[in-house]
Amino acid sequence: MTEECETFDVAIIGYGPVGATLGHLLGLCGVKTLILDRETEPYPLPRAVHFDDEVMRVFQAIGLAEEVAAKSRVNIGMRFVDPTGKLLLDWPRPQQVGRQGWHASYRFHQPDLEAILRRAMPSRDSVTVRLGCEVTEVIDHGNHCTIQVNDNGPVIRAGYVIGCDGARSMVRQSMASDMLDYGFHERWLVVDLLLNHPKPELGDWSIQHCDPDRPTTYVRGPENRRRWEISLKQGENTEQMTTPAEIWRLLAKWITPDEATLERAAVYTFHALIAKDWRRGRLFLAGDAAHQTPPFMGQGMCAGIRDVANLAWKLALVVQGKAGEGLLDSYQSERMLNAEAYITTAVRLGGLINTAGTRAALEAAFPTPDGSARMESIAPPLGAGIGTGNHAGRLFGQPRMSNGDLLDNACGYRSVLVVTDDLVDEVSLPQGLRLITQKDAPDVAQELTLLGVKAALIRPDAYIQGTATDKESLDALLATALPSPT
Ligand SMILES: Cc1cc2nc3c(=O)[nH]c(=O)nc-3n(C[C@H](O)[C@H](O)[C@H](O)COP(=O)(O)OP(=O)(O)OC[C@H]3O[C@@H](n4cnc5c(N)ncnc54)[C@H](O)[C@@H]3O)c2cc1C
Repeated sequence: MTEECETFDVAIIGYGPVGATLGHLLGLCGVKTLILDRETEPYPLPRAVHFDDEVMRVFQAIGLAEEVAAKSRVNIGMRFVDPTGKLLLDWPRPQQVGRQGWHASYRFHQPDLEAILRRAMPSRDSVTVRLGCEVTEVIDHGNHCTIQVNDNGPVIRAGYVIGCDGARSMVRQSMASDMLDYGFHERWLVVDLLLNHPKPELGDWSIQHCDPDRPTTYVRGPENRRRWEISLKQGENTEQMTTPAEIWRLLAKWITPDEATLERAAVYTFHALIAKDWRRGRLFLAGDAAHQTPPFMGQGMCAGIRDVANLAWKLALVVQGKAGEGLLDSYQSERMLNAEAYITTAVRLGGLINTAGTRAALEAAFPTPDGSARMESIAPPLGAGIGTGNHAGRLFGQPRMSNGDLLDNACGYRSVLVVTDDLVDEVSLPQGLRLITQKDAPDVAQELTLLGVKAALIRPDAYIQGTATDKESLDALLATALPSPT
């Protein structure tokens, strides 16, 4: 039976933002990839409104950053206020471009991003997309997988199957992977509005109204988009709470029907969950299939994009026969701790929003030695994986080249050795590795000085694999270098 099957190196189940980004990354490496989604259009209800500089760097890798930036807005930050409007916690975001080569935080409209990702996919010669195809069964046969489409439809063969199939993932069920539960389950009403005319009083800060009676989030979106997320009480049913009359009643203290048009509304139950197994044999999970978070940090989709940025080049190397299967074990070990750090921080923020930001709640949420209530974005490292040494698993910055281009644009999707002038003569570069010296990019020296080293081996996903301070440690580091996926 399987001899007649269509065959792909990788099948991605789910064409949401995570599956689409994985498709682009694998396409960049020329991996023969199939993307299947049961729907023909992107998900229509309100979801992500925020992503960060690391995620923008992934969009840069797939050549879409400028297009995404044109549809996004640089975020100035978020403020947590009590029911009287008193500021409890400030989370400002820098307004200048940061070390990643992008702004720290962006506001966007998820359907705009999904449209950009989908429009660009035909340019990936090795990627096939099939919509209206529900995957009803996935079987790992040990040396390949089979995928059943639409119950009685065709059976497709793939080397690896990646479940980017969202919170209710059928791939996760096929893997029999349980979820770790971080104890957060809340129903919130999410409302997207389009302002009919400017309303500057709403302000450009996103506001968390820490009102124990009705915790509410206001988000300043791009252009005339505005979002409110409103906590629901026990007994408030979805049908009643999503009627226009009820929505306008809840929003009355901020905005009225003549000032804005109701675009869409939905009730979600937010969870904090992580799958225990992200890989079983040839089956993998990424995005919401692997983890779910309350949205208070705006990091759900971001975590999924980080997943596939980690997985794509490893899969490509294995499929291309340039690395052994063992490399794929580092996917979960590296990604899980990083995702967990965002989820547990979001749960703590949720606790703060629900308790009106009492001093005790603030201290429990974000204790600071000087008692100030100011928060900074976190940047958790990867868990243990293929890297070695102190700096392994940290993102390397993205300085500009001497010609003004960004580092990643100059290097492409591959591993890079960056090195200071005084060590450059000692380098014997393995094939496929790109060398960047201080002459190529003067600011590289600053990045290395910050780390206290003279050379760093950077992986295709921009994370540090290891660093060196002299010829001996440089030789040892270069011995760990992997081939290039492109
Ligand atoms: C109110 C709200 C606010 C949010 N805010 C943010 C934010 O600001 N920032 C952020 O980063 N994240 C945010 N998120 C989270 C973000 O929206 C999700 O993490 C993201 O959409 C997950 O992407 P995904 O590709 O993993 O899954 P999805 O987008 O859910 O895509 C899964 C796809 O798989 C398909 N599929 C499922 N089963 C099958 C099957 N059996 N066969 C074929 N296809 C299948 C589905 O049709 C779907 O297209 C928010 C979420 C909500 C609800």
